[in-house]
Amino acid sequence: MAQIIDGKRISKEIKDELKNKVAEYKAQGVEIALAVIQVGKDPASTVYVGNKKKACEYIGIQSVAYELPEDTTEEELLAIIDKLNQDDSIYGILVQLPLPKHMNEDHILKAIDPKKDVDGFHPQSVGALSIGQPGFVSCTPAGIIQLLKRSGIEIAGKECVVVGRSNIVGKPMALLLLRENGTVTICHSKTADLREVTRRADILVVAIGKPKMIDASYVKEGAVVIDVGIHRNEENKLCGDVDYTSVEPVASAITPVPGGVGPMTIAMLMNNCVEAVELRKA
Ligand code: NDP
Repeated sequence: MAQIIDGKRISKEIKDELKNKVAEYKAQGVEIALAVIQVGKDPASTVYVGNKKKACEYIGIQSVAYELPEDTTEEELLAIIDKLNQDDSIYGILVQLPLPKHMNEDHILKAIDPKKDVDGFHPQSVGALSIGQPGFVSCTPAGIIQLLKRSGIEIAGKECVVVGRSNIVGKPMALLLLRENGTVTICHSKTADLREVTRRADILVVAIGKPKMIDASYVKEGAVVIDVGIHRNEENKLCGDVDYTSVEPVASAITPVPGGVGPMTIAMLMNNCVEAVELRKA
């Protein structure tokens, strides 16, 4: 039977550690505030923003909400970001994606001061990660590294295969595994023989966006399998990119969906808000 990697427990552990750290900062007179900007009323975004606010409350970070109407112009949003960049009481700025179609996401994300870029999406943050310099790391892949480390799974020297090359998951994931001295391969939709590559993996991270695509035939006996995907199936139940029932018997460890990678993303966002204090001093 595979070890079930418990993201709920590990994310709680991280949030409790951060809560203590935030209390220490408060005692030194440092109050951390996160600005959360939502444009429009996308229901999924509203749920994510609500969860981020709850996590802030739990940890003791102040969340400052900007709920902007759908027809906000790019200039208006840029002006708000500029104001928040100048405001020393704000340690992190988060613009909830996706933005309405009339806005250019790249322009908006680039406008955030890299020292407040707690999502880790600014090109400067991504560049810093690739050359091993201090900066914010995208929350989902950073959370996966924590899941592995806190589950006692060694990364150094392992064959790590990442399926998916998105800017927010696949690419930063590969860079982080490399930083941890894994031997890393990235696969994507043009990979010629996906099964042949994934079957080499000691650690397989799947971020494809295709429900239950990865079954046991893609997995080496004893591999650690991390499922980033989140989908609702026909019965409105959550499932991942990995066919859990098929893969669990061959894996040595596996993340469930829900309760695996999902809870880690917000925990790492909170971690980035706390790290913002030190990064500001650098
Ligand atoms: P994207 O759609 O941006 O990227 C998907 C990647 O998978 C692409 O690189 C694509 O390749 C690759 N891909 C698609 N089909 C195949 C295939 N048949 N074989 C091999 N590779 C394939 O997705 P994201 O990275 O943003 O997200 C991936 C999943 O993770 C989604 O289900 C998303 O909902 C979930 N997610 C979960 C989070 C969490 O907190 N748990 C956070 C972020 C995402 P190509 O580049 O060639 O098109």
